[in-house]
Amino acid sequence: MITLDDVRLDDYFTPHDIANEIYRQLPELSFPVPIFEIAYQCRIELIRNFEDFALGESIKDYPEGYWTTPKDEFDIGIILYKDHEIAPYRKHFTIAHELGHHLLPLHRNTASFNDLKEFYALSEEQKKEKVLKLTKEGKIESEEFEKEANKFANLILLPKHLLIKEFEGKEFCLRYLNEVSHLTQVSFSTVANRSCSILKDKAIALIHAENGVCNYTWSNKDNLPGLLRVGKKQPLPKDSIFANHKGETYEHFTEKEPVDVQTWFSDIEDGFDKIVFEQTYYQKKGFSITLVIIE
Ligand SMILES: [Zn+2]
Repeated sequence: MITLDDVRLDDYFTPHDIANEIYRQLPELSFPVPIFEIAYQCRIELIRNFEDFALGESIKDYPEGYWTTPKDEFDIGIILYKDHEIAPYRKHFTIAHELGHHLLPLHRNTASFNDLKEFYALSEEQKKEKVLKLTKEGKIESEEFEKEANKFANLILLPKHLLIKEFEGKEFCLRYLNEVSHLTQVSFSTVANRSCSILKDKAIALIHAENGVCNYTWSNKDNLPGLLRVGKKQPLPKDSIFANHKGETYEHFTEKEPVDVQTWFSDIEDGFDKIVFEQTYYQKKGFSITLVIIE
């Protein structure tokens, strides 16, 4: 059982300062961070799966999460989330993200869950019109708000001080990141990206792909020995270990093996004499994450 003086949180306005205040009050927190308990301590009255509210309707097109507040009571919140059977940890990030909207003072809006249900019943054309109207009224979350809420979710679920302690003396590889994902109960890709951002001194690139085609990359760009050869919507390099892999491609890790620097980089810096390693985690449904790390 944790207790949080949430009135103190009202003095803070950025994801960083709010997360810091929570950790200042709860220095004993460890992985997995109890996000439900923290949310309930911050005047979130209810956290529920969308399914419980949809009354048999399909929730396929619903957003990952939703935060709302009873009218005229802005400090009380309700969080709804989507649950995914194949990604059970994803809801923790969703809830943390929505809690960010609840705690960041500028994010609060007054749309109710009924508004949302009505919205999803509209035709595509009507949806566009409605979004345009709501945006003008300032009621739709802007991209900036989304980024801030994601930042808060990362800071609260994967705080730097706990992760750094966790990484001490460990070899950075995808199998180990998978252990951290289970320890923190945060999805593998979120843990991998956050770890890369925290370990600023390492030369790491993560290539998120679907059926061998890059969805996006995440890297410590300044530490890489050259320009990464792969970007959004491009296939992974022909001579990569990934492209020549013959074995299992479902929930499978390849070994972390050395690969030619030219495979992954162009415009390589003069005198580069380190070793480039490549490793892939084949996830479900054709998704994969490839680690390229220079050691
Ligand atoms: Zn959001």
